[in-house]
Amino acid sequence: MRESVQDVDEVVALASALIRIDTTNTGEPSGTRGERLAAEYVAERLEDAGYETTYVESGAPGRGNVIARLPGADRDRGALLVHSHLDVVPAEPSEWSVHPFSGEVSGGYVWGRGAVDMKHMAAMSLAVARRFRRDGVVPPRDLVFAYLADEEAGGVNGAGWLVQHRPELFDGVTEAISEVGGFSLTVGDGVRAYLVETAEKGVGWLRLHTRGTPGHGSLLHTDNAVARLAAAVTRLDAHEFPLMLTPPVRDFLAGVSDLTGVPFDEGDDPAKILGRLGSVARMIGATLRDTANVTMFSAGYKDNVVPSTASAIFDCRLLPDREEAFLREVDAVVGPGVEREWKSMPSVSTSFDGTLVDAMTAAIIAEDPDARLLPYMLSAGTDAKAFQRLGIRHLGFAPLRLPPDLDFTALFHGIDERVPVDGLLFGARVLDRFLRMC
Ligand SMILES: [Zn+2]
Repeated sequence: MRESVQDVDEVVALASALIRIDTTNTGEPSGTRGERLAAEYVAERLEDAGYETTYVESGAPGRGNVIARLPGADRDRGALLVHSHLDVVPAEPSEWSVHPFSGEVSGGYVWGRGAVDMKHMAAMSLAVARRFRRDGVVPPRDLVFAYLADEEAGGVNGAGWLVQHRPELFDGVTEAISEVGGFSLTVGDGVRAYLVETAEKGVGWLRLHTRGTPGHGSLLHTDNAVARLAAAVTRLDAHEFPLMLTPPVRDFLAGVSDLTGVPFDEGDDPAKILGRLGSVARMIGATLRDTANVTMFSAGYKDNVVPSTASAIFDCRLLPDREEAFLREVDAVVGPGVEREWKSMPSVSTSFDGTLVDAMTAAIIAEDPDARLLPYMLSAGTDAKAFQRLGIRHLGFAPLRLPPDLDFTALFHGIDERVPVDGLLFGARVLDRFLRMC
């Protein structure tokens, strides 16, 4: 199987080329660009290799998506969806060591916005899809390759739109793999654990709103909307939601305990184990409980006028089945005199077992024999939330072998986002093996 190595080498060139297409998604039509170009680039590469592709603009002009299907040996088995989003969050060139849209390959890395979120996976799946078609590889079941718009603004003009308006493109799909899983984390004595995402927290946008008596800033005021809101925001910010060990988090911590020898029991404070995780502790720590972080605060229009209203927005991330209890807790903490609005998307979760997980394990072990795979919960959300509406099971698996000292979680939406070249080549080889036995 080692002969697959050479053919997936083009993954580096593909990743670099995709990064050079600026697909910034600001969430506003005016600042969003490049998705059509990137989708056309992907479609051409697929067609070169012999695929028929479907190009769909979802929602609005330019929001390009590409879907292609490779028939498998057993067409009665449910298909596997391999999806990547092509859009990226904005990047400010003056803050970077290299231009964020240069796709520069230097110092053992491919640099640029999207290198890990998630043009690396788009490039890996494209390289493998091309190789399979060129070489006449018949996977065990149908593979559906999808390259999508708008994930960074919730997928309203991407996965969400396609699920609602073009569900037939995903006919027969039962399972999916995509981003934020399959990357390595070095724990204990140089043992690499590969984290497979089996769950994602739910996401909620909480808006708090206060009203008060407006008037001249020089007078006595006891009913100030801004002050009341600020106090409520401070209370909620200081509030810690209850610790709850969900199955993927418990399994993950038990796995790390096993690998490091740091004991961990159900009743223990997880802080000790988190301390062994390095930079990933920030993300794993966020999956121990619900979180609510204030992100926007707006009030006032003039320095000598007390305004009549004020509002703030919290980014809330919830563990499975916590919505009702979470909102009860929020109401109790912010107290009376504060109105709230709430919009949410559900959590995603599946078990860490079955033939798909077996295939992931075998593919990783073949390339990294001492590796260990662990399930984990992602603190953020992905397009998996949209595909869940079609009953599609999701696992985050975009394989990458990373150097032990790289702060991987900081690279997502971060400055100097980059992916190691050897890790990318490793990932393409693993994906190749995995898709041959999925
Ligand atoms: Zn992403």
